[in-house]
Amino acid sequence: MFTAKSFGKWAVAGLAAATLVACGGGEKVEEQAKAETKAEVINWKMVTTWPKNFPGLGTGAEKLAKNITEMSGGRLNVKVYAAGELVPPLEVFDAVSRGTAEMGHGASYYWKGKAPAAQFFAAVPFGLTAQEINAWVSHGGGMALWEEVYAPFNLVPMAAGNTGVQMGGWFNKEINSINDFQGLKMRIPGLGGEVLKKVGGTPVNLPGGEIFTALQTGTIDATEWVGPYNDLAFGLYKAAKFYYYPGWHEPGTTLEAMVNKTAFEALPADLKLIVKAAGRQANQDMLDEFTALNNDALVTLVNDHNVQLKPFPKEVLAQLRTASDETLKEVAAGDEMSKKVYDSFMDFRSKVSKWHAVSERAYINARDAD
Ligand code: CA
Repeated sequence: MFTAKSFGKWAVAGLAAATLVACGGGEKVEEQAKAETKAEVINWKMVTTWPKNFPGLGTGAEKLAKNITEMSGGRLNVKVYAAGELVPPLEVFDAVSRGTAEMGHGASYYWKGKAPAAQFFAAVPFGLTAQEINAWVSHGGGMALWEEVYAPFNLVPMAAGNTGVQMGGWFNKEINSINDFQGLKMRIPGLGGEVLKKVGGTPVNLPGGEIFTALQTGTIDATEWVGPYNDLAFGLYKAAKFYYYPGWHEPGTTLEAMVNKTAFEALPADLKLIVKAAGRQANQDMLDEFTALNNDALVTLVNDHNVQLKPFPKEVLAQLRTASDETLKEVAAGDEMSKKVYDSFMDFRSKVSKWHAVSERAYINARDAD
């Protein structure tokens, strides 16, 4: 309908066009264009679950914001807020959902209370590696499902970082059998936490910034965090001495960027593409950073801080795998959306695991054989 308001708009536009024609000169047209571009700067806030300047995760979010700002020539200006600066770390989802901030950076397993199916897009115990989850999200149907899970919250999700295989965690005692998890209070988020519960432990969900103190004061007995590069920066070796691998519970954790859907839809087409492309860049760049830096950090932990590096015993891993399979089935049985995501995820895991048996795994085994 042609309302008074829309008529007003048309009238102003018509007047501007008439002025341009009347001016005639190319310079004037350019000036006018510049003025219009300037007026179109969009300012976004990005809230994150990470402490300020936190290596890898926090800096990954900051790089993403900087890239969007620079790729758009400053038309979309994204300002980052560390955990607690604008909202507490575990309120990022709600803040972006209601539009307090246009963008957020975190990990989808933090939101299992809102949408249980969200957990499949961060980390699944004995699930997909970084390379595999990227393949599922980008070319295996994962992204369409992720968008479906977030749509009711008015959010658009993106993969925006990956840690690669994490470490199994920091313990104050040795883990020699599955019984050693009995009564263990451990900071371990998401599905890994559910598995811990199944083998007799108590999972605790704490944001990164609170882990060290909790472990040092004995509020928790053990913790997992990320891997050597991040764990060294946190000083976790000062609070526990046994460092276990592999991170069966987080084999390729995807970090996410979420965008308020209304804010995203309001962007012109090129800025939408820039936001998506910058997310894709951030996703790869973080994985590359962790892959490049983890081993040096591990050497420092072992050589300079006397950390005892230990593999989980084979039987322990086998029992954790059984508990994981049960846990995933239970999550799938909980609600329709979780079942849909679970089916897609498991089908992909089965196919990619067969392919990787004759490619990645076969090659790495051959390369590193004595
Ligand atoms: Ca972790």
